[in-house]
Amino acid sequence: MPKLLKIFPFLLVFLTASVIPSCKKDYATQPYKTRNLFIVVIDGPRYSETWGDAKHVYIPNYVRLSKQGTVFTNMYNQGFTYTTCGHTALTTGVYQNINNGGYEYPKEPSYLQHWLEKTGNPSSDAWVITTKDKLQVLSDCVNPQWKNRYLPMTDCGVSGLFTGYRNDSTTFAHIKKVITDFHPRLMFVNFKEPDASGHANNWNKYLQGIVDTDKYIGELWDMLQENPIYRGNTTLFVTNDHGRHLDGWLDGFVSHGDTCAGCRHINLLALGPDFRQDCIDATPYSQVDICATAAELMGIQMPASTGKVMHTLVLKQVSKD
Ligand SMILES: [Zn+2]
Ligand SMILES: [Zn+2]
Repeated sequence: MPKLLKIFPFLLVFLTASVIPSCKKDYATQPYKTRNLFIVVIDGPRYSETWGDAKHVYIPNYVRLSKQGTVFTNMYNQGFTYTTCGHTALTTGVYQNINNGGYEYPKEPSYLQHWLEKTGNPSSDAWVITTKDKLQVLSDCVNPQWKNRYLPMTDCGVSGLFTGYRNDSTTFAHIKKVITDFHPRLMFVNFKEPDASGHANNWNKYLQGIVDTDKYIGELWDMLQENPIYRGNTTLFVTNDHGRHLDGWLDGFVSHGDTCAGCRHINLLALGPDFRQDCIDATPYSQVDICATAAELMGIQMPASTGKVMHTLVLKQVSKD
């Protein structure tokens, strides 16, 4: 027998072990405890000013919350590194070269549409709340079987598509009000910072945008934990649509949109009752996997999605295989 074949089983064990994070293995078992799922997209920070900064200067809340969840250090946008493309990958599990101005709907339905179809719940149980008006397109799709059906509620931009961006502080106030008034089961959020200040070539405001959005995620998680409706049964994913160019490449932090490592490398913090706490996971994942994992937790199938369930976060597949 060739030597490689002899050592292959050992090699396999070694390789498998090497991708499992070295955290306490109190993995979730079925059924999942997650009943509510929130995804917050902070638009366009670079990894280097967020988790990739060893001192984590601008993200004190992210650091605080990381003790209660799992931080992913190798999460990548493997598609198009523009706002609408990144958000579409997160909601549909499909990397699509979609128009970035709000002039085109995603090809396939979002996890919100799938969940509303499956559960028959009212639309007020699922919300898309975004600072950027153009992201209202995330609420619907082109697929004729789904177009204009099972639509989540939307609260996007100043007052809907093509009305302009609003301030993130306004968006955050709306988020709090919707939680109080409707107790939604699903919420998908976009904050425009630090992307907007990056494009304005304002380094200090870009950093302030990271600080401000970090504060919102801290407040949001605390608010959910203080509410008996959400405490202990709610998952929160904090992530990004894309990063920005590396220093020394094109105009650096000002822009994004290509395949450079700065544009592709994004953050993910996963908080919730089905995940390990105080864990750092270096397993490589792709942005569409976040959608697939959200679908898994909420018990829905998304046939068009190309994402894979993040098996080191939600281990149902591993334990069943
Ligand atoms: Zn941008
Ligand atoms: Zn780039």
